[in-house]
Amino acid sequence: VVVSGSSYLRAIVTTRCPMRCPYCHEEGDEAVGRRTAELGTAEWIALLQAGSAAGVRKLKLLGGEPLARPDLPAIIAGVRAVDPSVDISIITSGVVPRARLDACFAAGLSRANVSIHGFGPAAFAERHGTEAMLSLRSAFIAALLEHGRPVKLNYVYRGRADEPDLGGLLAWAAPRPVVVNVLDDLRRDLDHQALIAAVTRLRGAPARTIVEHDPCSLDTLRLHWADGLEVEIKHERLGVVAPWRACAWCAVRTRCREGINAIRLDHGGALRLCMDRPELALPLAPLLRTGNTVGVAARWRGFLGEVAA
Ligand code: SF4
Repeated sequence: VVVSGSSYLRAIVTTRCPMRCPYCHEEGDEAVGRRTAELGTAEWIALLQAGSAAGVRKLKLLGGEPLARPDLPAIIAGVRAVDPSVDISIITSGVVPRARLDACFAAGLSRANVSIHGFGPAAFAERHGTEAMLSLRSAFIAALLEHGRPVKLNYVYRGRADEPDLGGLLAWAAPRPVVVNVLDDLRRDLDHQALIAAVTRLRGAPARTIVEHDPCSLDTLRLHWADGLEVEIKHERLGVVAPWRACAWCAVRTRCREGINAIRLDHGGALRLCMDRPELALPLAPLLRTGNTVGVAARWRGFLGEVAA
């Protein structure tokens, strides 16, 4: 059984991160940001290969900071070895030496999204970033553009106080081949209309607006300006779309934070349906440790069949 979103997996490969952003939602994995035991290289490869056998077509590796793992290229190569066409991307702060990015592309990474945790020095420092870290990020983004792959820059908008900083990012992005993904701070009461209003205040009304269906996630609004700027905004909430059987009687549905429709694989190897219901999970690490990787893929597929609405 294939349900909407089940082909999209977000894997939290590490809990480590050099940044300390107040809006970090930890993908619902409360260990993120703290040092906890991580699965080893072989375990991640086996789990993600099982995911591929279970139907994952879009894989995002994140954390924490995924590039904090020196074995990330090996993990990527392990997935690529069993699936030449799967879309493999990372979400990174970019606060790492570019050599790590180069190694990931050489191993089979398709593309990278950089989370802009403050564009200007003051906003970056507010998220505990130093000048040296900001230089690393600038070099990282330059390297990404050099690779010529699609570049998406994520910016979490928390309210009007962020607008001067967001405006700086949008002005920088307009003449460059990048897309700016503006996200709301899931801890606050902002919706897509608030995000559209913010970018319109900063850049004027967009010349063109397109709703794009995303077969792996929630639909996306694409806003284009005449100077080349492209912004994307998610314009649906998971609680409204309600793709899981459990959504029908979910006690937190009216305040469901999710802005992305994806299955998570948390840092301990448990599959999770959404960020707000940690009990809707399937721990796979114990089965993996018996060496039954075929069984892991079968259990994964079975779980998706059981939870589909
Ligand atoms: S919190 Fe989870 S189960 Fe509840 S409505 Fe949102 S996606 Fe569905």
